[in-house]
Amino acid sequence: MVEIDLNHIYKRYANAEEDNYAVSDFDLHIKDKEFIVFVGPSGCGKSTTLRMIAGLEDITKGELLINGKYENDTAPKDRDIAMVFQNYALYPHMTVFDNMAFGLKLRKYDKDTIKTKVDHAAKILGLSEYLDRKPAALSGGQRQRVALGRAIVRDAPIFLMDEPLSNLDAKLRVTMRAEIAKLHQELNTTTIYVTHDQTEAMTMADRIVVMSMGEVQQIGTPKEVYETP
Ligand code: ADP
Ligand code: ADP
Repeated sequence: MVEIDLNHIYKRYANAEEDNYAVSDFDLHIKDKEFIVFVGPSGCGKSTTLRMIAGLEDITKGELLINGKYENDTAPKDRDIAMVFQNYALYPHMTVFDNMAFGLKLRKYDKDTIKTKVDHAAKILGLSEYLDRKPAALSGGQRQRVALGRAIVRDAPIFLMDEPLSNLDAKLRVTMRAEIAKLHQELNTTTIYVTHDQTEAMTMADRIVVMSMGEVQQIGTPKEVYETP
């Protein structure tokens, strides 16, 4: 069971003017196994909000609760969260295996467990034959799968994805959209997905959070948000 409460969250970056908030009064209750999509134009605060949930940015004001527990001050690696980044954030000098294993090594898993988990994720993602390759020797879609693999091996109940498909061509985006939706189902995760693409939001989300200039404009199902009466 996962429940995430974002209670009146604000973010002001250290170098910003006094009253210039990147995120203002973001208030949302996320239910177990929901697929939530944050959508809105570039610069509206989607990524900042996601990074606050991951602990990669401090929360200026407000509280983050996961299953009722106050998490504002928990270190990123101690959160039960796996994150997928837009630029894949793969290490170029490491093999696919080592890229997928990195977060597990960091958390001191033993070698056998790491191998089991990486092999399992590679199988799910069709990467078993590529484990010895370096990222440069992969296609864009394969790289994105490695990034997903790093998240999968964590067995985290919460997945955060920041524009994971924006570097892929249109055709591959459609394929990967379906793959991510399927992973969400199969892994039973609660997922928060950031995109500026309305089609992605519409086809993937249980609920959409529409943002504009740091503020939440609307929260609802794809039907509620995109079907004007
Ligand atoms: P989005 O993900 O919707 O594109 P962001 O969350 O990246 O939006 O950015 C929201 C606002 O915060 C923008 O005005 C952006 O310029 C600003 N911002 C983002 N990151 C930083 C940072 N590290 N330092 C200062 N301002 C930032
Ligand atoms: P994980 O698979 O758990 O994310 P990583 O090896 O990717 O492990 O990252 C280790 C730590 O560094 C994690 O706490 C993660 O949140 C953080 N991290 C990963 N990528 C980035 C990034 N691009 N920018 C900032 N922090 C990152």
